[in-house]
Amino acid sequence: MVFEQSLERTNRRSPADRFEDFLRSRGMRNTQQRRIMLDVAFAQTGVFDAEQLIEQLPGKSSPGYVSRPTVYRTLAEFVDAGLLKKFELDGRSVYQHDAGSEQIAHLFCVECRSLVEIRSAVVMESIQKVAQESNFQMTGHRLLVRGTCQDCRQRRRRTKRRVDLV
Ligand SMILES: [Zn+2]
Repeated sequence: MVFEQSLERTNRRSPADRFEDFLRSRGMRNTQQRRIMLDVAFAQTGVFDAEQLIEQLPGKSSPGYVSRPTVYRTLAEFVDAGLLKKFELDGRSVYQHDAGSEQIAHLFCVECRSLVEIRSAVVMESIQKVAQESNFQMTGHRLLVRGTCQDCRQRRRRTKRRVDLV
């Protein structure tokens, strides 16, 4: 019980404070690059990958530039510090803010690789119900629905039409 309470208190502190503690415990210094990475990573909602972050980071000529190896290394530090959760999704590493139990459901477009979070109470309840009925103690789930998004289907239709005319 005491442990749970202290854990709760730790989680209520800001990611920046928790990361400072982590760095101090390892005898590491916070850097401008780490601060920029933290800001960008914690501005994300839902699941994201390293490439997505790189697109949002300052460009090569700007003072806040973070190199690709540093991006990956810092993400690994965030995972070690317990700030982010890392997992594999369709063969790539993706990250999510570490927020309690793992309940993830997404629609995944196999063409443009876009990922849309499913926020459906019905889906979540159904999964829980299925687990309960099998007397299965669920600790989390990752649901990935594969297919083609509307944009990609429309693009395909347009291309086909053009080909038909030739
Ligand atoms: Zn698509």
